[in-house]
Amino acid sequence: ATPTALLVGTGRGAQLGILIRGPEVLEASRGIDTVVLDKTGTVTTGAMKLAAMHSARGWSLRNAAGDDDGGDDVELLRLAGALESASEHPIARAVTNAARETLGSVAGKLPAVSDFSNHQGYGVSGIVSGHTVMVGRRDLLRQQGIEVPDDLAGLLAQAESQGSTPVLVAVDGGLAGVLIVSDAVKETSAEAIARLGAMGLSTVLLTGDNSGAAHRVAAEVGIEEVIAEALPKDKVAAIRALQQQGRTVAMVGDGVNDAAALAQADLGIAMGTGTDVAINAAGITVMRGDLRAVADSLALSRRTLRVIR
Ligand code: ADP
Ligand code: MG
Repeated sequence: ATPTALLVGTGRGAQLGILIRGPEVLEASRGIDTVVLDKTGTVTTGAMKLAAMHSARGWSLRNAAGDDDGGDDVELLRLAGALESASEHPIARAVTNAARETLGSVAGKLPAVSDFSNHQGYGVSGIVSGHTVMVGRRDLLRQQGIEVPDDLAGLLAQAESQGSTPVLVAVDGGLAGVLIVSDAVKETSAEAIARLGAMGLSTVLLTGDNSGAAHRVAAEVGIEEVIAEALPKDKVAAIRALQQQGRTVAMVGDGVNDAAALAQADLGIAMGTGTDVAINAAGITVMRGDLRAVADSLALSRRTLRVIR
C-alpha cells in the first residue's frame, strides 16, 4: 500500500504547481545529490532572437553580386526563415520570426518547404524555392564537405565568446552565411540555483550549444559544472556517467532532445512550458517555466520522505 504521506506529498505538489506523476516518484527522488539542467528553455527563456547575420562574401542566388560587405542578406534570411518555419526549435523560431519581421513588407510570404529533415541536435535541411538549404551547427555542414572561410570563422568564435549561438546556412552545397541568435537567462534562474546549492545539491549545465554560450550562462546563474556541445545521445551518456560515479541525479529539461536523459536520470523534471515529449519522459512537471519550482519540488520530496522514513 502507498504510504499516506506520499499521497499527501503529491497533493501538496499540485497546490504548488508541481505535477507529480505518482507517489513512487517521490520515493525515486531519495538521495538525489546532483541536479543536471538543460540550458535553452530551462535556465534561459528559450525565446531566442536573431542578433546579427552575415552572408558569405559574394554569396547570392542571383548573378548580381551582394552588397559590399558580403552577399545577399535578404535572400539568406528568406531561405533560412522559410526552412526553419518547419522546425519547433527555439533557434528556428528566432530565424523565422526575424524573416517574417524583416521581409514581411519586402518579400511577402515565406516560400514553402519540401523534403524537410530534422537532424536532431545538429540542425535542419530541406528544399526551398528549388534550392537545397541547410541550417545548423558547423559539424552538420562539415559532414557535407562545407567548410567555413576564415573571415566567418572569426565571427563565429567572437559570437560564441560573447555567449551567443551562431548557426550556419548552406545553399546548394555552398556556405551562404551565418545567423547569430541569443536568448536571456530567466529572471528567477540565479535564485533557483542558489537554493539548490543551499540544499547541498551540485549543479551541472548540460547543453547541445557551444561551450562559450554554455559557460557564459553557467557563470551568470552560478552553475558549477558545464557539459557543452552534447548531442541527445551524449546527454544520456552524461547522466549515466554521473550515476556511475555514484551520484544520484535529477535532470531538468524541456526539449525533445532532453527526453532520453530525463528518462535515464533517477528523477526527470520537465518544464511545463516545454515539449510533450519531455513531459511524458519526466516524473515531475513544474507547471510554470520557473526553476524555483524545481527547488520546491526537491524540498517537498525531502519533507515527504522524512515523514515516512
Ligand atoms: P540544446 O541542448 O541547447 O537545447 P539542441 O540539442 O537542441 O541544443 O541543439 C544543439 C545545436 O544544434 C544548436 O545549438 C544548434 O547549433 C543546432 N541546431 C539544432 N536544431 C537546430 C535548428 N532547427 N536550426 C538551427 N540549428 C539547430
Ligand atoms: Mg532546452
